[in-house]
Order: sequence, then structure tokens, then C-alpha cells
Amino acid sequence: MIEWFKRLFGIGTNSLNADKLMVNIILFGPPGSGKGTQAAKLVEKYGFLHISTGDLFRYEMGNDTPLGLEAKSFIEKGELVPDSITIGMLKNKVEANPDVKGYIFDGFPRTIDQSKALDELMAGLGQSINLLIALSVDDEEIISRILQRGKTSGRADDNDESIIRNRINVYNENTRQVYDYYDAKKVSQSVDGLGGIEDIFARLTSVIDQV
Ligand code: UDP
Ligand code: MG
Repeated sequence: MIEWFKRLFGIGTNSLNADKLMVNIILFGPPGSGKGTQAAKLVEKYGFLHISTGDLFRYEMGNDTPLGLEAKSFIEKGELVPDSITIGMLKNKVEANPDVKGYIFDGFPRTIDQSKALDELMAGLGQSINLLIALSVDDEEIISRILQRGKTSGRADDNDESIIRNRINVYNENTRQVYDYYDAKKVSQSVDGLGGIEDIFARLTSVIDQV
């Protein structure tokens, strides 16, 4: 009765999304672990909305927006853009796209505070994070992949080994713990990120299909 009443008047949760069947996934892993590549393939297979905060920042930087200019000063050093900026941008993107089968978050969250903000945002939609999948790849492989990508990506942060190493340090210091945060909620899983693109994709889909 109370649930019915709440739903009728849209109290407490977003009445459009509460109880809607969605699958919300965090694709996790160090820089250069293949998140963007695999996210694009997952979108094709499952129809999720791919949200890459790195791509959103590059779009803003490409348009010289105030947000882009602010983000640029951190990104060109391989540092994290402050949580307040990143969380606000992510929130706008999610709220502008409520009617989707699910979200696939790539490159976000990168801190525990961002994880908590994401959980709150999902809860406000009557949703939660159903799965975090980490792609595990060792540091030397990451560096060689990113340097290779840098030849064509046009990304300044992909062309300088010291910036790449800083990104890996930032990942180890601030981001790695996000895995444990979601592991405590029993939604973290890890897959081997080494091998062919199709092999890794098959590992990911077998994990997703269990959820
Ligand atoms: N970045 C950030 N917060 C985000 C996403 C990106 O601070 O939520 C910044 C950070 O400086 C990072 C850069 O943008 O090094 C590139 O991030 P992206 O995820 O695109 O690259 P990847 O880590 O996948 O190589
Ligand atoms: Mg990426």
C-alpha cells in the first residue's frame, strides 16, 4: 500500500525510473587497459549508454568551454580533475539521459568520494550499480599500449612517458580502492585484460550475462 502510494505520487524516488529494469556497469581498470574499446563493443551488443568522463572532458576541451579549460590544467599533467567538477559533469550527463537500458561508466568513478556520489545519483533514480568489472593489465603493457595509441590519438597525455607514469601512480594511489569499495557490496569482478580484443570481449560478456 505504501509502495503503491509512493509510486502514484512519485515520492522519494524518480517515479519514471524506480523499479525499471536496468543494468548499470562500471568498466574499471588502469589507463590504457582497454575500457574505451570494450565499452564501444558492449554498447553495440547490449544497447547501454556509454559514459566516459575522459571523452566528456575532451569534448569540453575541444570546444574551449570554461569546464574544458579548467579540466585541461589537470589532464595535461596526468592529475585527476577535482571531484566537484567531475561529479557535476557526470550528473548532468546521466540526468539528461534517463531513458536507457543501462549505463556503462568508463573512467568513472576514480575516487571513493566519486563512488559515493555515483551511488547517491543511482539511488535517486531508483537504481544501483549492478556490476564493476576490472580489466587487469600490468604496467609495462599499459605504457606500451598508451604510447602506441599516442601516435594517432592526438592526446598530449598519451605522448609523454612521464605523464603516463603519473597517471598510473594516480590510479594506484586514488583509484584502485574503488574496486574494494564495490567488492564490499559484492558487485566487483576482475577479468584478464591481456589478449585479443575479441577474447577479452568474450570474457566480459560471460560476466555480464550472469547478472
Ligand atoms: N580524468 C579525470 N577524471 C575522470 C576522467 C578523466 O580526472 O573522471 C582525466 C585524468 O587526468 C586522466 C585523463 O582525464 O588522466 C584521461 O582520462 P581517460 O579516462 O580518458 O584516459 P584513460 O585513463 O582511459 O587512458
Ligand atoms: Mg579511456
